[in-house]
Amino acid sequence: MDAHPSAIIVGAGIAGLTCALALQQRGFKPVVLEQSHALKEIGAGLQLSPNGMSVLRQLGLESALLAKGFLPEGIRSVNWRSGQESALLPFSALNFHSPYLHIHRADLQQVLLDAVLTNDASCLRTSQHVEAIISEGDAATLMIRHGDSLTADWVIGADGIHSRCRDYVVRDNQLPRFTGNVAWRGLLRRDALPESLQPAPWANLWMGPGGHVVIYYLRGGELINFVAVREQNDWQEESWNAPASLRDLLHDFADWDPALFELLSHAEPKTCYRWALFDRDPISNWYRDRIVLIGDAAHPMLPFLAQGAAMGIEDAWVLSNLIASGRADAAAQFQQQRAERCARVQQLARDNMKLFHHHSPLIRAGRDVVARGLAAFNPTAAARRVKWIYDWQAEPAQSFSGEQSGLA
Ligand SMILES: Cc1cc2nc3c(=O)[nH]c(=O)nc-3n(C[C@H](O)[C@H](O)[C@H](O)COP(=O)(O)OP(=O)(O)OC[C@H]3O[C@@H](n4cnc5c(N)ncnc54)[C@H](O)[C@@H]3O)c2cc1C
Repeated sequence: MDAHPSAIIVGAGIAGLTCALALQQRGFKPVVLEQSHALKEIGAGLQLSPNGMSVLRQLGLESALLAKGFLPEGIRSVNWRSGQESALLPFSALNFHSPYLHIHRADLQQVLLDAVLTNDASCLRTSQHVEAIISEGDAATLMIRHGDSLTADWVIGADGIHSRCRDYVVRDNQLPRFTGNVAWRGLLRRDALPESLQPAPWANLWMGPGGHVVIYYLRGGELINFVAVREQNDWQEESWNAPASLRDLLHDFADWDPALFELLSHAEPKTCYRWALFDRDPISNWYRDRIVLIGDAAHPMLPFLAQGAAMGIEDAWVLSNLIASGRADAAAQFQQQRAERCARVQQLARDNMKLFHHHSPLIRAGRDVVARGLAAFNPTAAARRVKWIYDWQAEPAQSFSGEQSGLA
C-alpha cells in the first residue's frame, strides 16, 4: 500500500504535469487523467519568465529546457508603423535569479511528460474525460465518461479554462468572458527567411492601435514564433487547432510596419492558427473539501503578460509542497498563498490590453518616449510593473509528514 495520500490530477497540460512531477519528487504516486487520446504537438511559443523557471529548475528540468528553448536578450519595442526601434530593455540589466526562456509549448510539455513517465510509466491515463465529482469530506470520487469511478484523497483540477472541476468548486454558473481580442499564432523557419527579415534575438514587440504583435525565436533559433493580436468581436472560436487563413492575417496587419508584414507573409500556413482570447474574473474560493484548482482552471487570463503557464507552474509547486507537509489546512493555505497574487496578475494582463492597444497617436507617442527613457537610464524602473512577478522564487521542497492511504 502507498504510504502517502493518493492524488488524482485532472488534465495533462503544463500545470497538471508540473504538479504530477512535483508530487512524485515528494514521494507521491499521483495519477493524471487526460481527456485527449494522446498529447499532440499543439500550441506555439511560450515566454517562460524567471518565476516559472525557478520551479522548473528545482524540478531538475532546467538543462533539458535550455537545450530546447531560446534565451532572448530582452524586450525590444518597435514602432508599429515605421518599424523603427523605440526601446530596448536588456534582461542583463535586471539581475534575474533564473533564466527567461522562450520555448515551444509542446517542448515544455514533452520535457515534463518524459520526467513524469520516467518516475512512473503508468502515471498518465489518456481518453479519460472527467464528467462529475462527488466530494466525500476527506476524499473525492471522480466519474469518468464511459468508464469507472476513481476515488482519491486529493483531486487537483488542472483542466484549463473550461474546467469541470471549477464548476464543481466555484458553482457560480459563469462562462469564460470573450475579451474582444483575437490572436493569430504561427511559426516560421528561420532558414526560410531572407537575412534582412530575420528578427533580432529579443522579444520583439509592436504596439499599434487596437492590436500588438510579439515575435521571438524558439528551438535554439531554428523557429520563429509570432503572436499577432487584433481587437475584433466577430470571431470567437477558442482552440489550439483552429486553422487560420494567411490572407486574413495579412489583411489585419496590412498597414503595419512593412518589414513585419513581409515577415508575416512568410508564415507557414499549416502552422498558423487563430485563437479568440477569453478570460475570467478572479475567484476567491479555490477549493471545496479536497478538490483544489490550479492553472487556467483557477485563473485564466489574457496572454498579454505572458504569465498563464508560469502561474500554473507556480501553483503546482506551492500546492505540492503544502500537500506534502501533511497540514490539515493545506487547501486553505494554498488559496491564501495564491489567490491575491494571481488576481493581481490577471488584472495586470487586462491592463496591458489598454497599454498596448491605445488608439490615440499622442498617447502612444508619450508611452513610447517614457519607455525609451526608462529602458535606457533606469531599466529597473522600466521593469517595475512586472519585476515583482519575476522576483517570485520556488521555495525548497517539503518532505511528507501525513497519514497512510491509497487509491481506491
Ligand atoms: C495566444 C496565447 C499565448 C500565450 N503565451 C503565454 C506565454 O508566453 N507565457 C505563459 O506563461 N503563458 C502563455 N499563455 C497561457 C498558457 O498557454 C496557459 O495559461 C497554459 O497553457 C494553461 O495551462 P493549464 O495546464 O492550466 O491548462 P491547459 O493547457 O488548458 O490544460 C488543461 C488540460 O486538461 C484537459 N481537460 C480538460 N477538461 C478535462 C476533463 N473534463 N477531463 C480530463 N481532462 C480534461 C485538457 O484536454 C488539457 O490537456 C498563452 C496563451 C495563449 C492563448
